[in-house]
Amino acid sequence: MSPSSSWVIVPPDLPPAERARTTLDALEHGARYIWGGLLPRDRQSGRRGGMQLLVRTAHGYVPVLVVRHRITDPGEGARTTDVTDLDPTNAAVDATRKVRSHPRDQMRLAHTYRLLQAAGFAEPGRAVGGVIGLDVDCVLWHDLEAGTWPGGRTALEEYDSRFADRLAVARAAAAGDEPLAEPSRVLECKGCPWWPTCEAELTRVRDVSLVVRGEDAMELRRAGIATVDKLAALDIHDDPPIQWTGVTFQDAVSLARAWLADLTMVRRVRDVDVSRGDVEVDIDMESFGDSGAYLWGCLMSGVDIGVEHGYHAFATWEPLPTDDEARSFAEFWTWLSDVRTRTAERGLSFRAYCYNALAENRWLFASAERFAGFPGVPSMNEVREFVTSDEWVDLFRSVSDQFLCSHGKGLKVVAPVAGFAWRDAEAGGEASMRWYRDAVGMHGGEPVLAQRTRLLTYNEDDVLATKALREWISDRAMTDVPFTEDL
Ligand code: SF4
Repeated sequence: MSPSSSWVIVPPDLPPAERARTTLDALEHGARYIWGGLLPRDRQSGRRGGMQLLVRTAHGYVPVLVVRHRITDPGEGARTTDVTDLDPTNAAVDATRKVRSHPRDQMRLAHTYRLLQAAGFAEPGRAVGGVIGLDVDCVLWHDLEAGTWPGGRTALEEYDSRFADRLAVARAAAAGDEPLAEPSRVLECKGCPWWPTCEAELTRVRDVSLVVRGEDAMELRRAGIATVDKLAALDIHDDPPIQWTGVTFQDAVSLARAWLADLTMVRRVRDVDVSRGDVEVDIDMESFGDSGAYLWGCLMSGVDIGVEHGYHAFATWEPLPTDDEARSFAEFWTWLSDVRTRTAERGLSFRAYCYNALAENRWLFASAERFAGFPGVPSMNEVREFVTSDEWVDLFRSVSDQFLCSHGKGLKVVAPVAGFAWRDAEAGGEASMRWYRDAVGMHGGEPVLAQRTRLLTYNEDDVLATKALREWISDRAMTDVPFTEDL
């Protein structure tokens, strides 16, 4: 590699040691941009990690983070460059954008800055990092040494103190000393391998974080309300004990009471309802990370319109990313359009259901955009017309609006209340990623056909689950689930 090499892309599927070696090699050769780099482990602090983009400046490297959220709001004061300009020296005060607060982005930049420092490649005398957000309209530059944090602290100071704190907690745990931290349920618990251990402990002490958001739980503990029992005993007509960020005071108390009564769901409204059609299709999409959507599963039911009832799968089994995804997506859309047309021709009503439309909508739009021009692929407008119509029903919203769920609102939690059970005990998002890798023979392996069957069964069960859930909401939820005010 010559110093003039502009781009080095570090393959994400290399073993970590090789990724770190490739990154170090690129840094040492002065590559202009390093994508997907993994920095060498800092043996002294134990730090490790990578960054989407490392950019060489006149005197070193700066990290640039690429995120899937909005990073600015209309306003002024953010320091930005054009999205094609990755030199922080050109950053200027933006007259149209203000910074949207994302403390985690700054912590990630500070972490990478310290790693670059340890490896000897950080810019001396300046600690900055850039972020490219969802709109991909600019690079937002953070000065990690500006006193923008509470108490005038800098992002680097905040990061250093948090890092020291985490390290102390981990070292005490590794040494078997008195624990320096107690579990508290937060968003990250969802994907954390320690959840079974923490859940058992939280349940044992009846911790209030089991029923309210992490931030609210922290405030409640400060107010002396550390257990679900204490929260359930509050009178909702009194002044709220804290400023709630997640739910209302009334909902929090109801959730606590539901948890004590061992109720997964309670009704927050007297009458529950879900929009129904003469012809109904339950839809579930399976994707693999950001690589694409490899399977659209549909369950056809309702009035006979000449389309076979039951499960229909539209899949590509070529490893993603692949243009064969355009074929499977077009087949799915053509089938769905045919169902909608036949329904309309007969003067019947149509409804399609999913659970949390964010995921399906994301890939409906992304597929229409990426595969524009492929035969059978809809335009963005066609997709927009469908997802904004009354025909597209998000059951997650129906559940959120009408029920309080004391153990979360995931389909795996609420469908069992409706009497549904998945055939595969291992079924879940993480397992499906593993199955997918085997199913397509990722990294040149032999495809495992049994894993394709497993994924199809899992997807079919997901659409059967949404069908069971909506039928239960229509028919039995009113009698099966108590109303909060009756608790
Ligand atoms: S499961 Fe435990 S260790 Fe993991 S994030 Fe939650 S509280 Fe922390």
